[in-house]
Amino acid sequence: SIVVTGATGHLGRLVIESLLTADVPAGEIVAVARDRAKAAPLAARGVDVRIADYDRPETLRDVFRSGDRVLLVSGSEVGRRVPQHSAVVDAARTAGVAQLAYTGVLGGPDADFELAAEHKVTEQLILDSELPYTFLRNGWYTENYTENLAPVLEHGAVVAAAGEGRVASAARADYAAAAAAVLTGEGHLNKAYELCGDTAWSFAEYAAELSRQTGRTIVYNNVPDETLFGILKGAGVPGPMVGVLVDVDKAIERGLLVGTTGDLSRLAGRPTTPLADTIAQALKV
Ligand code: NDP
Repeated sequence: SIVVTGATGHLGRLVIESLLTADVPAGEIVAVARDRAKAAPLAARGVDVRIADYDRPETLRDVFRSGDRVLLVSGSEVGRRVPQHSAVVDAARTAGVAQLAYTGVLGGPDADFELAAEHKVTEQLILDSELPYTFLRNGWYTENYTENLAPVLEHGAVVAAAGEGRVASAARADYAAAAAAVLTGEGHLNKAYELCGDTAWSFAEYAAELSRQTGRTIVYNNVPDETLFGILKGAGVPGPMVGVLVDVDKAIERGLLVGTTGDLSRLAGRPTTPLADTIAQALKV
């Protein structure tokens, strides 16, 4: 079987969609979720739903079988992910899966920013497990920006502390297509892919595209770190995450979220979704 964890999340759902589109029979797909009700739409399509929680290793015992091809979608609880991922890797090793793919971060061991730390440890855990692996080192989702347009439109400003830094983002659906390709194709074992959009953009260009599509004036407001700290805190972002998010902007300023490998469009078999398209999509809803 092909097993996808985080199957009820944004990315996991899109991976399963890509697998079904690639004609993988629903009965050969296992969706791992922690909430059965949330997974009901997947079960209704014939996907085999298994309930497990990364925080409860005993629930992971029955999730994998020998020979499975597995995608571990990294968890969303920053700061808790090392023990969580470790539990999944242990369960996969015990079962003897044929492939463990993992959604890490662009740059892998060289990614020099706070959010990358748990991904680096997880990659090492997977290497230590000696399972055949595929590292999907994902760059930024364009949706990280476009899903939160309300304050941008309200204030007429994109606020960031990234200077002239550029981001080669891609749509989640692009990363999902690449994940489906490595889970169904051959030649991907013990490989690491650096995945990012085909075209990098700056926040000034992002603001200009928003202006063009809305017909309003939207500027890029490049603020000092302390100002961004205050804005994020004021917006209710939990304490430790504020520093992590400011650190992401500094990483962007240093050029760490620009990739040039072309791995993503090659694996997905098509160009990555342009920034303008994801903006248009977001403005429609
Ligand atoms: P989501 O938050 O939509 O999905 C995360 C998934 O992980 C959900 O299905 C969630 O389950 C599941 N999950 C979280 N904790 C546990 C747990 N303890 N046990 C079992 N399942 C758990 O994120 P996305 O799909 O958008 O992104 C996938 C991952 O990519 C993120 O989790 C994060 O690691 C990373 N990421 C990458 C970004 C990028 O720009 N490259 C940006 C943001 C995140 P449930 O559905 O029940 O909540």
